[in-house]
Amino acid sequence: KKFEDFNLDKYIIKALYNLNYKTPSKVQKEVIPRLLKKEDVIVKSKTGSGKTASFGIPICENIDIENNNVQALIVVPTRELALQVKDEISNIGRLKKIRCSAIFGKQPIKEQIRELKQRVHIVVATPGRIIDHIGRNTINLDDIKYFIIDEADKMLNKGFIEDMEFILNKIPKKSVKGLFSATIDDDIQYICDKYLKTSNILDI
Ligand code: AMP
Repeated sequence: KKFEDFNLDKYIIKALYNLNYKTPSKVQKEVIPRLLKKEDVIVKSKTGSGKTASFGIPICENIDIENNNVQALIVVPTRELALQVKDEISNIGRLKKIRCSAIFGKQPIKEQIRELKQRVHIVVATPGRIIDHIGRNTINLDDIKYFIIDEADKMLNKGFIEDMEFILNKIPKKSVKGLFSATIDDDIQYICDKYLKTSNILDI
């Protein structure tokens, strides 16, 4: 299977060519078609497998560039990962003129509020800070089509379930959901059972 076989926007194909991604990795072959079909996914996979692009490509494909609201929210455990995921998604979406922001703690909230008022299609965020913005009503979640929890196993603080449920209860019910983790423990399984419309764990 090749990237061309997924019927992607020509600007995304061109961006993948510029990134020198020649063929889809195993996780990408499994996840891209499912997220394009609006199916939820649970993925047991490590970093280095190409998982970022496995959700980044279908999200960029489905962004409506005419809509200035946030259409995808990706929650990650750390600031470093937020910046990394933001960079990769920005590269994938660059030619389609998609705008992606990274939002994390220990950064001036006022600047983030200003940023969220601009045209931002995709937000990559750490849990604490995005919950703060949701509480302050400084992020509009009405048009969220995709919600991704990345590296869920690294969020294993005792607030994991509460944090994820808080966000999951605020985003549109019909949004497509993806959870990525190196291990699936009881807390992660609980979130999947309660909020995701699949019980199939893609083990890659
Ligand atoms: P990740 O597992 O998402 O952290 O990705 C690991 C690395 O592989 C990143 O540096 C990506 O830029 C790169 N990568 C992702 N998908 C592909 C692909 N299909 N072909 C070549 N490199 C890729």
